[in-house]
Amino acid sequence: MKHLAFAIALLIIIGLSKTAGAYVLEGPKWNHLSITHSDDSYLSQAINIWAKVSGITNGGFGTDITVSSSKLPSNIGGYASWSSDGQFITHCDIVTNSLYPPSMAVYIHEVGHCLGLGHSLDPTAIMYYNGGNELSLTADDISGIQALYGPLKPAVFKLSVPMLARY
Ligand SMILES: [Zn+2]
Repeated sequence: MKHLAFAIALLIIIGLSKTAGAYVLEGPKWNHLSITHSDDSYLSQAINIWAKVSGITNGGFGTDITVSSSKLPSNIGGYASWSSDGQFITHCDIVTNSLYPPSMAVYIHEVGHCLGLGHSLDPTAIMYYNGGNELSLTADDISGIQALYGPLKPAVFKLSVPMLARY
C-alpha cells in the first residue's frame, strides 16, 4: 500500500514537471543574436515573432536561415534542417510544401526549429509536433526561446536634445 502511494505521488510529480517545462531544446543554438535570412517575407515575419519575446533580432538579408519549396507528402507542412559544429547552429534551411500556399503557422514552427527548439510536449504550443494554425506563441514557446537566448532586451532610449527654435 505504501508503495502504491509513492508511485502515485511520483506520477503526479512527473505530470506536473511536464506541464511546467514542456519545451524541448535540440542542443545547439546560434552563437550570435542577429539572425539573417533569405529574401522571403514570411520568413522575415516569423523571425520577428520570435524576436519580439527573446534576445534574438532579425538581422535582415543573409544566409543564416534560408527557405526553399519542394513537393512533400500531403500531411507535412514543411520541415527544417540545420547544421551545427556541435555547439552552435551554423545554417538552417526550411523546406515548405509546394502543394500548399505559404502558411505563417508553418514558418513560425520551422523557424523555432532553426533557432534550436525541438517539439514541445505541450499540445497548445506552436512547437508541438502538430502545431496547427496557431499564430501566437504560448508561454511554453516563450520559455523555450528565452532559455536559449534570454528575454527581450529593453530598448535603449537615447536622450534627444530638442531642436532650438530658429528665428
Ligand atoms: Zn516540427
